[in-house]
Parts: sequence; C-alpha cells; structure tokens
Amino acid sequence: MDPKRIRNFSIIAHIDHGKSTIADRMLEVTGTIDKRVMKEQVLDNLELERERGITIKSVPVRMDYTAPDGERYVLNLIDTPGHVDFGYEVSRSLAACEGALLVVDAAQGVEAQTLANAYKAIDLDLEIVPVLNKIDLPSARPDEIRKEIEDVVGLDASNAVLASAKNGIGIDEALAQLVALVPPPTGEAEGPLRALVFDSVYDNYRGIICYIRVVDGEIKAGDSVLFMATGRRYTVEEVGAFKPKLTPMESLGVGEVGYITASIKTLDEARVGDTLTLNDRPAKTPLPGYQMVKPVVYCGFYPVDREEYPQLRDALEKLKLNDASLEFEPENSTALGFGFRCGFLGLLHMDITRERLQREFDVQLVATAPNVVYRIVTKKGKEIEAHRPSDYPEVGDVDSVSEPYIRLTVYVPSDYVGKVMQLSQEKRGVFVSMDYLTPERARAVYDIPLAEFIVDYYDRLQSVSRGYASLDYEPVGFRESDLVKVDVLINHDPVDAFSFICHQDDAYHRGHSAVKKLKDLIPRQMFEVPIQASVGKKVIVRSNVKALRKDVLAKCYGGDITRKRKLLEKQKKGKDKMKMIGKVSIPPDAFMSFLDMD
Ligand code: GDP
Ligand code: MG
Repeated sequence: MDPKRIRNFSIIAHIDHGKSTIADRMLEVTGTIDKRVMKEQVLDNLELERERGITIKSVPVRMDYTAPDGERYVLNLIDTPGHVDFGYEVSRSLAACEGALLVVDAAQGVEAQTLANAYKAIDLDLEIVPVLNKIDLPSARPDEIRKEIEDVVGLDASNAVLASAKNGIGIDEALAQLVALVPPPTGEAEGPLRALVFDSVYDNYRGIICYIRVVDGEIKAGDSVLFMATGRRYTVEEVGAFKPKLTPMESLGVGEVGYITASIKTLDEARVGDTLTLNDRPAKTPLPGYQMVKPVVYCGFYPVDREEYPQLRDALEKLKLNDASLEFEPENSTALGFGFRCGFLGLLHMDITRERLQREFDVQLVATAPNVVYRIVTKKGKEIEAHRPSDYPEVGDVDSVSEPYIRLTVYVPSDYVGKVMQLSQEKRGVFVSMDYLTPERARAVYDIPLAEFIVDYYDRLQSVSRGYASLDYEPVGFRESDLVKVDVLINHDPVDAFSFICHQDDAYHRGHSAVKKLKDLIPRQMFEVPIQASVGKKVIVRSNVKALRKDVLAKCYGGDITRKRKLLEKQKKGKDKMKMIGKVSIPPDAFMSFLDMD
C-alpha cells in the first residue's frame, strides 16, 4: 500500500458534540457499512457506552474513499476514549494518527474536553480539521463559535466544515478536507519494524488482539516479534485490517493501521503504548511516549451475599482480561467479610467497573468509600504507599504524608465564576489562574487534592453552575498535607471498613457525620453502645445508641415480688455479660446502608 494514499485520523470532541454520529455517517458515505445494517453508533460497542454515550474503548475502522478528484484513498478512523480517566489511551490513539477532526457543537461552543483533546493533538503535531456540527439547530451560532475556536484553541477556523451529522450535511466536505489537509504517513519502508500498539483487547477465541499502527518497516504472519517495553517475544499468527470486521491481510506496511494476533494470553503482555519490532532485526529505539499506567483511586468491593465471593472473583478476572488498568487483590473486613481491594484510573472507571459487575455478571456488591493513594514517610524514614486506610501507620509513627494533586480546569459561564471559586476553595483548591475566553465564558484553574475532587466535586460543580460547567484535569504529582486517619469505633471496636483518611481540619466534621449515620442504623441493643470517631487514641466524636430495656416483667402476671426481682437480676447479669464480650449484633445491611449512603 502506497503511504501517499493513506490518511490516519481521529475525531476529537467534547461529549455530546456529535463525534459518534459523524463517525457513523462517514461509515455510510464510504460504504464501509451498509446503511440497512447500520446500527446507530456502531463504534460504541459496549452496552454501557451506548447508555452513557461515552466511548471507553477505541475501535479503529478502515474505509475506502474516492476523493472528489477521483483518487482512491484508505482512511483509518481511530476512535479515542472520551473521558479524562482514559487520558493516556487518548494520547496513544492520537499518536497513531497524522490528523484529527475537531468537532465542536455550533450551539454550545468550546468545552473542556474540546480544548484538552485539541491540545493533546497539537502536542503530537497533528493537522487539525475543525468541524462545526449541529448547524441544523435553531440555536446554532457558527460564526461566533468559529471565532471562539480561533481565540481559545488558537486554530484557523475560517474554513471550518459546517455540518449536521444528524442530517448528513458536511460529511463529504469533512472527508475531502481530511484528504487534502492531513499529511500522508511517512516512515522507513526498508527500516527495521516499528509499530505502535495503541490498544489491545481480549478475545475468547484468539487471545489478545493488538491494534497497531506501523511506523517503519513491515509486519506479516510468521514474523517473530518483540515487544520493546515488556521484552516479550511471539510469533505473529495473523495480520489484518478492520473493515470494520477483522479481515486478514498479507502484511501491514508503513502508515497502515490494523491488528495482529500471536497467542498472547494477557493484556499485561501487550500494553498500550508499547512498540513492536522484529526479533531478528530489532529497532534501536522504541517509539516515544510509553508509560506504565497506575491506578489512582482505590476502593473495596464486597458481595452483598457472602456466598457470592467466588462469583465476584471470577467476574473481576474476566473484566481484567479486557482492562489492563484494573487492579484487584483479596481483602478481608470484619464488617463486610471477604472482598477485593480494587484500583482504578479514576471515578468513572470505578463506576463503570461496578456497573458491569452487577449487570453483566449479576454480582450485587457494596463498595467502600473510594480513596486515593497516599505516600507516607514514617519517623524512622520508611516510605509507605497506602492504598487503604488500614495501611496507614500509627499516628505517632507518621513523619509526613503526601497526597496526589490534580490541576483542574473549569469552563463556566461568567455568572457562575464566584460559585466555582468558592467550591474550589472549600475543596482545598489552590488558585492558579483565571481568564475570560469571551465576556460570557470564563476559565478557572485550580490545583486541588484528588481526594477532594473524587468525593463530589463534579456533582457540586454541575449543581452550582446549573449544568453549564465542563472540566478537565491532569495529575500534577504528590504534595504534603496535614492528613489524619479517622477510625470509627462501635462499642470501642474499630470497624475497618469505615476508617478514612482526611485533612485534619475535616476530621471532626466527617467523623461527626459518620457517627450520626451509624447511630441511626444500629438497632438498640440490650446495653448502651458507644459509637466514636477517633484519631489515633484520641476520641474526637462520641454518641450512644441507648440500651433497649427488655420488658422481662411482661410475662409475670400477678404479684410474686421475689420472682420479679430474680428476673430483673437475670437481666442485669445478661447485660453485663454482653458488655463483657463487647459484641454488638448489627444486621449486615446496616454496614451496607452506611457505605451506600456515601
Ligand atoms: P458524542 O458524545 O460526541 O459521540 O456525540 P453523539 O454522536 O453521541 O451525539 C450526541 C447527541 O447529539 C445525540 O443525541 C445525537 O443524535 C445528537 N446529534 C449529533 N449530531 C447532531 C446534529 O448534527 N444535529 C443535531 N440536532 N443533533 C445531533
Ligand atoms: Mg460517542
């Protein structure tokens, strides 16, 4: 295949601006998928993705296209995941392209992900073709939005395609501009093979399928290949392209996008961002930008029905097959029994995983409150990475604690700027900058602790801005904070699943609400049950569940006073005994409700 006839591109957009609809129309126009068999949004294949309207996994498609000048081209459309949690995968998908279609809703204008993704594309030197979509809407303001793209993103939008994906308008024009403006791939046809693994998925029958973009050289079935980051070697079994069904080919050469299979068993062996080369004639340097992704948010998953632990384990193992960034390990809690501590790339990743476990695998579960990773240095100079509150050392042993921060960029109508600033400060945000994109739209930038962000920042932002704000964030490393671990004790016993780590200033407030919640959930016992929140040995909040005075006299009719006295004594003894054991009988749903209320 002559690289001059290839165009590799992605579509980038803020959510709901029309990326999937444009992709669908392109598949129709190029005849890649028959209009009659076209399901809406073919590229979003997970049920959940359709429902939430987000793209989690990139699915590339190869289209044959005849340009207005009669020349034939191969267009590879590489879809990118649509959420900040998957930022690294977005970058790798974009790295497989020379160009990107930047879709902006002509009524809404530039939003957080428009800019975040556009910057990723600009960083990778991609040619960007702007498209103003939804021009059919009465509220469309193409001229204003064109100017916004120029002012805010810094791109020339004078020739931006005017499109209505809904009505099929502007699709031909977008394809024609892609061919005219996006440069063809360049690479060393004779050089040693270098191919970027921009995604990999698990298939029941074939094992791992690696999605690759060849940069230099050529790859074909039978080749012995090496993954440069993991150092693993395999023999290629099949090479092919996405049409969009997997279609075997002789070989893939410079600039081509396709897949390989090689009896690879797990995703860990074929990681996104790795470089494939030939075993016998390896490239000297891998392609740039490989990064090991690590979970940033952790929580415990426990089956509601304790008997379902094995199902939960099997389900997690199955999900892991297709999700290299999901981590889990067995965990045991006195309150919740056996479960798993799971690590995620972010909150959405966590939510999706939880929903899939319940829907696709039918495992009902409770999730403990999510926490971030903390780095603790002890007085003895030991460094600890805490993935859960119980990893936290005794208060007296802690020298310093650091927590991950993110740089948060919020786009919001000017009227709501004050509210956004107030919210960000309340979340321990450190002000970075503030500017106006237009007189009506502002951009505020804060560095805030990830832990504060994950609690409810997004929901509260939407509520203070009436849904008009959009945001994006990137990690900016660990920073030292005054953090403490708060334990929650029932009848003097700390309940592991309820411990949490928070800023010193919030310890009382959060401890108080935990104690209050529990007090309402724990049924009265035969004795008084103290509920406490403590930092180390110091109790900071205390409340009591009052004793239930069992009416032992109810059954004694008449007036045998000695019998009454005996019974009262027995009851008192019973009380003492229970107190001695110190065991409070709490229905398991109380724990579940406690955690679910968060
Ligand atoms: P994505 O999140 O960027 O993939 O956006 P979708 O393609 O899922 O589109 C989001 C919503 O906008 C859907 O309800 C589409 O039907 C609608 N939509 C997409 N393109 C157009 C358009 O040109 N005009 C109008 N009126 N609606 C559109
Ligand atoms: Mg979509």
